[in-house]
Amino acid sequence: MTQKLSSYAAGSWYAAADDGTPILDSSTGEVVATVSASGLDVAAMVEHARTVGGPALRALTFQQRGLMLKELGKYLTGRAGEIHANYGAAGATTPDAQVDVEGGIGVLFVYGSKARRELPDDTIYTDGGIEPLGKDPNFVGQTIYSSRPGVAVFINAFNFPVWGMLEKLAPTLLAGLPVIVKPATATAQLAEQAFRQIIESGILPEGSVQFIAGGVGDLLDHLGGNDVIAFTGSASTAAKLRSGPAVVERSATFNGEADSLNASILGPDGGPDTEEFAQFIKTVAREVTSKTGQKCTAIRRALVPEPLLDKVIDALTARLGKVVVGDPRDPATRMGPLVSVAQRDEVAGAVRRLAQGADILLGGPDAELTLGSGDPAKGAFFPPTVLLARDRRDRNLHTIEAFGPVTTLFPYTDAAEAAELVALGEGSLVASVVSNDQQFVRDLVREIAPFHGRLLLLDRDSAAAATPHGAVLPNLIHGGPGRAGGGAELGGIRGVLHLMQATSLSGSPALIAAATGRWNANAPEVDPGVHPFRKYYEQLQIGDTFHTGTREITLADIETFAHFTGDTFYAHMDDQAAAANPLFEGRVAHGYFVLAAAAGLFVDPDPGPVLANFGLDRLRFVKPVYPGDVISVRLTCKAKTIRGGIDQGEVTWDVGVTNSDGELVAAYDLLTINALESAAG
Ligand code: NAP
Repeated sequence: MTQKLSSYAAGSWYAAADDGTPILDSSTGEVVATVSASGLDVAAMVEHARTVGGPALRALTFQQRGLMLKELGKYLTGRAGEIHANYGAAGATTPDAQVDVEGGIGVLFVYGSKARRELPDDTIYTDGGIEPLGKDPNFVGQTIYSSRPGVAVFINAFNFPVWGMLEKLAPTLLAGLPVIVKPATATAQLAEQAFRQIIESGILPEGSVQFIAGGVGDLLDHLGGNDVIAFTGSASTAAKLRSGPAVVERSATFNGEADSLNASILGPDGGPDTEEFAQFIKTVAREVTSKTGQKCTAIRRALVPEPLLDKVIDALTARLGKVVVGDPRDPATRMGPLVSVAQRDEVAGAVRRLAQGADILLGGPDAELTLGSGDPAKGAFFPPTVLLARDRRDRNLHTIEAFGPVTTLFPYTDAAEAAELVALGEGSLVASVVSNDQQFVRDLVREIAPFHGRLLLLDRDSAAAATPHGAVLPNLIHGGPGRAGGGAELGGIRGVLHLMQATSLSGSPALIAAATGRWNANAPEVDPGVHPFRKYYEQLQIGDTFHTGTREITLADIETFAHFTGDTFYAHMDDQAAAANPLFEGRVAHGYFVLAAAAGLFVDPDPGPVLANFGLDRLRFVKPVYPGDVISVRLTCKAKTIRGGIDQGEVTWDVGVTNSDGELVAAYDLLTINALESAAG
């Protein structure tokens, strides 16, 4: 029986009365599902997201949201096999499906763990340090990021129904924004299945995710300045959505990930016997066949040094000529069909237009298709196709995207010409430079970086460990300028901050500390009553301050430290040489000794709630310390974080070391792990 896909709106599943658009098995042409959202109340969905999902998400700290992503990742891992069982109908081989399903789940895990390591146990994010705004220390600035009381609408492409949803979901939920997902119709059955699992997990707060199977209706008319439209798809749809009133008149944020003609460049050193040559052929061939070339990051343009062109043609066509095309459910198949017959016809049309300026070396729409399995009359099969540019500057070759297993070879003479050809693509998601020639790589990177969101630099050293050209990693930026849509997703925590509102606060140190929950120099100090190292995590207050006694730094100290550690740098040992240094008047204490002496002043030695020191941040030696100087230390509780899932707290202490004139000589953040009173029993 054909499955009728449902939407998930305001807490319940909704099936339209009509049958809507059929989704066909891309190998056999059989109907696998139908899609319609007619009658769906999209205005109520937006309202539900704003009034139910948003507040529930924003009540959670980043740490809690991170834990939620990790739990969801674990749950979906357990059910990935159910999606794999249906993926063959969409034309994907098992490795292709893994990129989508396991790849998407991987993004949840990476963001879950990044949140727990890099974000605070709070609902706002404090960005960077305090900005002095004038001579008077009583007026300072601080930038924060806060969650918008809006909704994010994902409009996704057909090629990654699961990854496309999860890669956006992870940073968006972390940012505290509820989500409405609208997958592409062609593979909506897979997106719906994964979404159903998310709902069945019960892990996400009600209203934080909703789903539209079918068209969006007038959804965008309900969006405004606090909302986000995150679009992935063709440049033409991106242009249409970007020019709508939600964006143009009401300033909804629009993030576009559109098509692009990504390049891979073989360096001049990449002769046929090199590892770089082998990597280049492997990389280009993989990107042509992986997901049948239906990847936004696939290599559409392969740039080859003129003298190496013949060898590359031989190796690439030989390798791709052996690829077994067929039904992905057949274990012998290495490349499945395109997602639909309509898509196959689009690709055939694009290749015909490319062929007006290029020679088809392999495949193409008129090649006789030898299939390992599947029905050539009903399936959307297309062979691996390689073209060779006749005029390497032909604009069409740099701008027509054949969204299938298609790549065009371009010869080039030197790094400058390679960069010029790459730039003719008018902005791409990714390029790879395959070379062991450091000067060539350096020259090229500096020229082509502004045209890309990501560059893969591949050589013999990284070959074994490197992720493929087309692999989008949550830690790295996904997006690109110009034709690639002008958007940026992922890239670690910056992908979360993009979705939040940046606000600069300016005011007195006390009010800034109160608003951010982080102490800053010049904010009021709090008398902790006891040494703050005697307080459990929960008992510590932001601003708790301990002022130490004093210690004179002697020449004997400096000598002892130098010989004990082996650091006999002349500035510590030789008065004359030190005085000749423009920064010093004579022998100075080691900065590390000042730190060690400071610790000797502020630690409270007996066993207690402070379990360990795990590092220093922002360390600066501000002024030299000379023999005879008397130092003292201020230690202030600056920030506290409980990392999700851990029974200990992290405390950041603001430390200032001063000399006898009260001048700051060293400043840093000290990081400690502190016991929780609640866990102490
Ligand atoms: P598409 O036709 O532009 O469709 C993309 C999405 O937009 C689909 O969900 C589609 O829904 C929806 N849509 C179309 N018209 C709309 C409208 N007027 N209002 C609201 N939504 C609308 O692209 P596609 O054919 O699915 O995807 C292939 C393209 O995506 C390729 O060009 C590829 O390069 C690009 N792509 C880019 C990235 C990236 O990250 N940069 C990733 C993957 C793919 P329906 O399916 O229901 O029409």
